[in-house]
Amino acid sequence: MPPRQRFAVFGHPINHSLSPRIHADFAGQFGIDLSYEAIDAAPEGFKDAVHAFFDEGLGANVTLPHKAAAFAMADIATATATRAGTANVLTRLGDGRLEAHNTDGDGMVRDITERHAQDLRGHTALLLGAGGAARGVAWHLLDAGVGTLTIVNRNPVAADDLADAIGDPARAHTRYWEDLHDIGSFDLIVNATSAGTLGGGLDLPVSIVGSRALCYDLSYGKSAAGFVGWARGAGARYAFDGLGMLIETAADAFERWHGKRPDTDPVYRELRAIYG
Ligand code: NDP
Repeated sequence: MPPRQRFAVFGHPINHSLSPRIHADFAGQFGIDLSYEAIDAAPEGFKDAVHAFFDEGLGANVTLPHKAAAFAMADIATATATRAGTANVLTRLGDGRLEAHNTDGDGMVRDITERHAQDLRGHTALLLGAGGAARGVAWHLLDAGVGTLTIVNRNPVAADDLADAIGDPARAHTRYWEDLHDIGSFDLIVNATSAGTLGGGLDLPVSIVGSRALCYDLSYGKSAAGFVGWARGAGARYAFDGLGMLIETAADAFERWHGKRPDTDPVYRELRAIYG
């Protein structure tokens, strides 16, 4: 019998990751026998842990806070990972090289435009955050046709770096966090901060929520509850969490590794029943 193919997700912390369950569900759709483990690696030990894993492993997902380090340590990178400067998928290629890729943007936009059937074209968009996930989704929002993208980050330097990397000042620009109170309203507000995941909250003015606004938190479950509840209370037309994005990004990684496209809908229904 051939050895089971090894896959993993690296993060810190990682104990509540849904990725092992999602990949097991996908594998079950095709009768694939695989091992998928969650590996907790502190930043100082991340590179060594990844190298040790890839002695045998074929592919790994990477989450908070390792996405920039994953991109930096790879031998080659896809165009999507290169423009973001971050990676959430590492794959060992046939020649032994480690490839970095980023599925965050595709996964989020597909969740919004296909699962939730919302057209983003022409929307005025506000992106809260400028970390690994924000960099993963920013270009895809522009590709999906948002009219303008305003990037606001607690640390303004990171927001400026992202806007500079995009290099389209007519559409993508930054404002200070303090400006949120008199910045006007938006059609789309994407919370790409880790405030909810870290157990904190965001103090956001309701004035940023436009009359047809779609609010989207990249995190899910308890981590997203504060932002999603705030958005509903502020009158947003739609308020979604990032559970669907998580499953879509996993499907892209699965297809990259196994050459088969899993059906995400049954997995979404199963996990939505748990996460509300
Ligand atoms: P990073 O650590 O790379 O970036 C964190 C970002 O959050 C930074 O912009 C940081 O600002 C900001 N931030 C943190 N705390 C606060 C706060 N209290 N107030 C305001 N801003 C804050 O994390 P990621 O970008 O990788 O992840 C961000 C979130 O997205 C996480 O919750 C993660 O779980 C979620 N995510 C979900 C995915 C999905 O598939 N559903 C995929 C990817 C991410 P500053 O620069 O000032 O520190």
